[in-house]
Amino acid sequence: MVNFTISSYFENKIIQINFRLEGKVAIVTGGASGIGASTVHLFYEHGAKVVIADIQDNLGQSIATTLGKNACYIHCNVSNEEQIINLIDTTISKFGQLDIMYNNAGIMDTTFESILNTPKGDLERMLGVNLVGGFLGAKHAAKVMVPNKKGCILFTASSCTKIAGIASHSYAVSKYGIVGLTKNLAAELGLHGIRVNCISPFGVLTGSNIDEKKKEMFESVMGAVAEDIAKAALYLASDEGSYVSGMNLVVDGGYCVVNPTLL
Ligand code: NAD
Repeated sequence: MVNFTISSYFENKIIQINFRLEGKVAIVTGGASGIGASTVHLFYEHGAKVVIADIQDNLGQSIATTLGKNACYIHCNVSNEEQIINLIDTTISKFGQLDIMYNNAGIMDTTFESILNTPKGDLERMLGVNLVGGFLGAKHAAKVMVPNKKGCILFTASSCTKIAGIASHSYAVSKYGIVGLTKNLAAELGLHGIRVNCISPFGVLTGSNIDEKKKEMFESVMGAVAEDIAKAALYLASDEGSYVSGMNLVVDGGYCVVNPTLL
């Protein structure tokens, strides 16, 4: 009989985990603030050249200047296809390649309105940034990645795709769209060596949602910080995530699985 235990198996193995992004070029949309800004810093610290894409020019430019020559800021409204094309083209001319496209830019609601009081324009505004923005970013990044037969596309969805009633209808629809897009793109682009995943955060106090009501709710849950989400993005973007595609990675401190009566 073979004397096998799990510990004896692992004793002779050295498992090397490498989250380094050396030699990779990443774009982070919504990179001037919150989760995006934290991801920009983490990717940069792990060796990537990073492009910050946002509409908050002063904030974005100042992060790029602080980081140095391997970072730059490009103004880009993600809803505007010409500006997305310019973002990708400028990235290629500056850094020569594109390996990671993180479609993170988004707008959030701080109120939960009944559908009876939700104007159509509200839905259109949410879809325009959160869903169309992600679609355009993925489309034009894929045009560069498909011929190279490699790449990684990420999105920020939301844990409202896992638990109902925590966000407005318009916001929820936009983020469900992102989860659907992630899966469909993973099916198509996987054939070209490109991985596609989304991250669903909950409870991070950032620029978009820092009002008193949200603050109380979030603090009562976990008190997450933007870097908690950035670390998930780093895992998925690095070679350590090489066998993960089509997934919606929930990063919410367990919020979605907790019995709601306990909250
Ligand atoms: P944030 O407001 O700090 O960051 C969002 C960034 O997106 C800002 O810098 C903003 O200028 C940029 N942006 C907005 N519209 C844009 C546009 N049209 N073009 C380009 N950039 C634009 O908020 P955050 O919490 O860091 O949000 C990042 C992403 O995370 C969003 O997609 C949001 O929906 C998602 N999210 C956040 C939470 C959370 O708990 N904070 C939870 C679920 C999902």
